[in-house]
Amino acid sequence: MTVRTRVAPSPTGDPHLGTAYMALFNCAFAKKHGGQFVLRIEDTDQTRSTPESEQVILDALHWMGLKWDEGPDIGGTCGPYRQSERLDHYAARAAELVEHGHAFHCFCSTDRLADLRRTQQSAGETPRYDGHCIGMDEGDKTRRIASGEAHVIRLRVPDDGECTFEDGLRGAITIPWQQVDMQVLVKSDGFPTYHLAVVVDDHMMDITHVLRGEEWISSVPKHVLLYQYFGWDMPSHYHLPLLRNTDQTKMSKRRNPTSINYYRHCGYLPEVLVNYLALMGWSMPDEREIFRFDEMVEAFDVDRMSTSAPVFDTEKLNWLNGQYIRDMSSSAFMDRIAEWAVNRERLAELVPLIQERTERFIDLLPQVDYLLGERAEVSQASFVHKSLDEADCLRILDHSLRTLDRVRVWQHDDIFAELKSLAEAMDVKFRDFLFPLFVAVSGREVSLPLFDSIGFLGSDLTRTRIRTAIDALGGLSKKESRRLELAFQELDR
Ligand code: GLU
Repeated sequence: MTVRTRVAPSPTGDPHLGTAYMALFNCAFAKKHGGQFVLRIEDTDQTRSTPESEQVILDALHWMGLKWDEGPDIGGTCGPYRQSERLDHYAARAAELVEHGHAFHCFCSTDRLADLRRTQQSAGETPRYDGHCIGMDEGDKTRRIASGEAHVIRLRVPDDGECTFEDGLRGAITIPWQQVDMQVLVKSDGFPTYHLAVVVDDHMMDITHVLRGEEWISSVPKHVLLYQYFGWDMPSHYHLPLLRNTDQTKMSKRRNPTSINYYRHCGYLPEVLVNYLALMGWSMPDEREIFRFDEMVEAFDVDRMSTSAPVFDTEKLNWLNGQYIRDMSSSAFMDRIAEWAVNRERLAELVPLIQERTERFIDLLPQVDYLLGERAEVSQASFVHKSLDEADCLRILDHSLRTLDRVRVWQHDDIFAELKSLAEAMDVKFRDFLFPLFVAVSGREVSLPLFDSIGFLGSDLTRTRIRTAIDALGGLSKKESRRLELAFQELDR
């Protein structure tokens, strides 16, 4: 058997550290066994997927040096590798399931489903579809489909008993069928959900081992059923624990930098991120902490993978980065600095901002210090303004953070449009509105154009700076944050 693994990111935002973590382990596993590692794009959520996000994810994984053998950019024998280009496969499989009575059409309205959920929740039950549309009269069904009535296709799930499956890291796991929902497999827009697409693709792409995040454990019974219904062998599954913060909470972009590009921008070395992420889920037989990817592959053994919650500690990451940097030759060090920021690609982003403002090259650095390096520290005093008080600044910063969460493609025009409409909804003069943001982002009242700066810094660095500015203003208690959240929701936008 040729070992084949895959990583399957959804292109719905920044390239997440978690994607790199999964890619790393799948890639190491395949390489260790002389197999192949596939990259598949799971873009079935049409409302959230963007080609820009796909591109930045591929770029970020390339930067980390994780090479795939097949993928949307390089092709391969099992393509296409983008789910939106494989719709015929899912439709054919869904039709087959319906024909054999393993799936059924469901016409329930969102109102009915919401009522059902409420009733179940108030009775203390796990919300679950009640099977209302199972066994619908065939003629009735055909007529409703022909008339164009909105519907989905759902999975048939056994009424009782339990599902036991093997996890390569955790052993046997048992989940009662009562806890498994009659999952939607095909949405009303005709697109498959993750559950149908992942099973069809893992099978058609000959994937033998699936290493993925533990958040998918509760979905395995649905996948077990699909493999059974199709009569296919199921790949071996290994569910890796999710990355955590030092306080054990889950890493999430609302609270922490999770984008690979943040770490790249801050000057962490790709091989250090690889080394550190490897340490999150695995250890070298000799417990050595510093090792390269090739050494990892050589020594790799799933038995040394751990299921205890890995803590992503930036202090430790800084230490590791420092170790690698001090270990370099001065010539390698020079090359790496050039690769980091003084390369043509990076400079090309800065040129439109700085060329017209430059008379002598010596004027350059003070202009870009907060873009290439850390910004000046901010304190309460930095936010003194003639018409805004501290509460106003806090409100603007809080609401800007929430608004930036909604920006799907991180570029000047989208960021500008979102923040401009926020300022209007908050009824704050745009000039005033921009003041706390200028300070938060650049550490100054006047800087290079704000939206270009935000675009250049990227979402995580921008958000981190806004969060530290909020802290400098005394921070927000849970209660205050909740109050601001409600106020934000009530804005007329
Ligand atoms: N598209 C899923 C995700 O981004 C992949 C999960 C899997 O590996 O099966 O989390």
